[in-house]
Amino acid sequence: MAKRDYYEVLGVSRSATPEEIKKAYRQLAIKYHPDKNPNNPEAEEKFKEAAEAYEVLSDPEKRKRYDQFGHNGVSGAGGFGGGFSGDMNMEDIFARFSDIFEGTGFESFFGGGMGGGRSRGVNKGTNLRIKLKLTLQEIAEGAEKKVKVKRYIACKSCNGNGSKNGVSLQTCGTCGGTGQVRRVTNTMLGQMITTSTCPTCSGSGKTISQKCEVCAGEGRTMEEEVISIRVPAGVQEGMQLSIAGKGNYPQRGGQYGDLYIVIEEAEDETLKRDGNNIIYDLHISFIDAALGATVEVPTLDGKVKVKIEPGTQSGKILRLKGKGLKDLQSYDRGDQLIHINIWTPKKLTPEEKAILEKLRNSKNFMPSPDKSEKSFFEKMKEFFQ
Ligand SMILES: [Zn+2]
Ligand SMILES: [Zn+2]
Repeated sequence: MAKRDYYEVLGVSRSATPEEIKKAYRQLAIKYHPDKNPNNPEAEEKFKEAAEAYEVLSDPEKRKRYDQFGHNGVSGAGGFGGGFSGDMNMEDIFARFSDIFEGTGFESFFGGGMGGGRSRGVNKGTNLRIKLKLTLQEIAEGAEKKVKVKRYIACKSCNGNGSKNGVSLQTCGTCGGTGQVRRVTNTMLGQMITTSTCPTCSGSGKTISQKCEVCAGEGRTMEEEVISIRVPAGVQEGMQLSIAGKGNYPQRGGQYGDLYIVIEEAEDETLKRDGNNIIYDLHISFIDAALGATVEVPTLDGKVKVKIEPGTQSGKILRLKGKGLKDLQSYDRGDQLIHINIWTPKKLTPEEKAILEKLRNSKNFMPSPDKSEKSFFEKMKEFFQ
């Protein structure tokens, strides 16, 4: 299908100002918002199409290139690479254009908002998002973490309504106490009625004649709070934990936003993670490999002794069953895979050299790989199927 002209998509003229473009996009984004059009692939396409058009036309550089060269100027190799070349997901759109949805009653990103049944008209504070770095050990065992969060909380002096002594509240004259204002605008798509949060009372429906002195009528104060987070075992990089009600308090009363914790994995020096499995690179001497040995290997549960059979070849993989990570959903545990590397000495004393020289032409030291033995690559493939 041929791409539609970006100006046509947004319904603006080629000489539209940045404000007009933003406004046009905002209207389309609201009209085709997935919250409003559940299970409607056509609306989703339109939503994405509008975001793509806005992505280009809202950027002066890209808009110039688009005006000059059309779609070819802004997509593919010569375009703005890695961005919206037609294959963007909804999360990208919410992340990039979160300001577009401010005050619309829609969440600025997926997750909390979708299907959350959030009632419209309730003044809700913004969500907060923080990163939390965890060691492999913490991920394996689950962890109780404390994080410091700076956030708005309800002013203790006025209980969050912003008025002095909490008594001098009046019904807002702008919205008649509903907290919402309706506006009819003429767009190229016809008349559109938009409902937005009342600018006079910020959605509370009340105005203040005497402001609270502690918060200057805001109804909220910025505080630093230590919040405890219980992280379940088996989480992964990029996962989010949400804590309801630990986001910001809105101006002059309403509902707290939520706190989102984004998991980051700290790299472990010895143990590597692969899904729920743990991979460990073990280096042994060729003498231990030839004669057999018992070696100590670190695991998530501490050190364990592992037997190396005489005649072990480099590249062999040993499996410690159940020594991996717990699965987040089931009670299964992954395995630890020990990848054996045979260490070749780099420096030798004359005596050591003499001993090895004696063995150089010994028949047992000549490589004679077993044809039935699988290659390292084949073995890895088997393990990860
Ligand atoms: Zn109002
Ligand atoms: Zn106050």
